[in-house]
Amino acid sequence: MIINMKPDATEEEIRHVIDRIEECNYQSHVISGAERTVIGAVGTNGRRSEIEALQAAPGVETVVAIAHPFKLVSSQLRRTRTVVNVRGVPIGDGEVVVMAGPCSVESREQLMETAHAVCRAGAQMLRGGAYKPRTSPYDFQGLGVEALEFLKEASIETGLPIVTEVMSENDVDVVAEYADMLQIGARNMQNFSLLRRVANVNRPILLKRGPSATIKEWLLAAEYLLSGGNPNVVLCERGIKTFETATRNTLDLAAVALAKELSHLPVIADPSHGTGVRSLVPAASRAAVAIGADGLMIEVHPCPERALSDGPQSLDLRGFADLMESLAAFKPLMEVA
Ligand code: PEP
Ligand code: MN
Repeated sequence: MIINMKPDATEEEIRHVIDRIEECNYQSHVISGAERTVIGAVGTNGRRSEIEALQAAPGVETVVAIAHPFKLVSSQLRRTRTVVNVRGVPIGDGEVVVMAGPCSVESREQLMETAHAVCRAGAQMLRGGAYKPRTSPYDFQGLGVEALEFLKEASIETGLPIVTEVMSENDVDVVAEYADMLQIGARNMQNFSLLRRVANVNRPILLKRGPSATIKEWLLAAEYLLSGGNPNVVLCERGIKTFETATRNTLDLAAVALAKELSHLPVIADPSHGTGVRSLVPAASRAAVAIGADGLMIEVHPCPERALSDGPQSLDLRGFADLMESLAAFKPLMEVA
């Protein structure tokens, strides 16, 4: 951290800042210029937020952070990339992992038909919502445990591991009993008590980026999971809110590349929620792979026009098979690049 003193800061004010830096477990380095004094607060175990608060101290002009606030997720701390193993499927080892399935599990038939189709087309994991975060309380809220049972059955039949969202701390145990990977949805990215709770669960976590979260906030949410004891975290960019209304969200592809630069964790993209528009999903998927995504989450429904949630962004079974074919043709080009 750099504390930039005002040109007219007094000796006493400078002394006060140095004392506070040392009280907060940092070392101070003073640079006395002709016009002003700049003080560096250096160290790895200091109380960062208290140094940030020096912004309010007399004689201080600005406090500037030079290091990132996250530690355990940082690529500076761990140079080798993390590979997260979801019941035999490695995420982050160079192969693009496709997780596909319906937005919501609506019935046994709908799920089984979708699960078999995505498996045949080459998906490596099955997704499907049992507990749905819906904007309106009047919309379909998910089948809960019944959906978890269908997911388990589909997983046994196809061999695909399951990822499904857990919305509440109360449901963590039951979801972990059925699912191979727990999804923390975009709206819960900063539900810190839920993050602390799933940090204690022996299941990998898929952490979606909040619709209005900065990359720093997203990585700090992941820091809750790692510091709470769960190192098996996959980040998922799923689109953010911008002024644009032509798409449901704006898929922030640069965030995929930047999160991979800043962190050693695998990063996947969700072009379904990221665009909200079915026709854009294949192109956005290829773009995500081109920018370095370790995987894709794709919503698929046997009859999107009848879907109880997210029909407009869901591919039908044929559309998903076509997407998988186009990705297969695209991959050798990526190896050249
Ligand atoms: C979902 O995956 O169906 C979902 C609700 O995602 P998000 O949290 O990204 O909106
Ligand atoms: Mn959805």
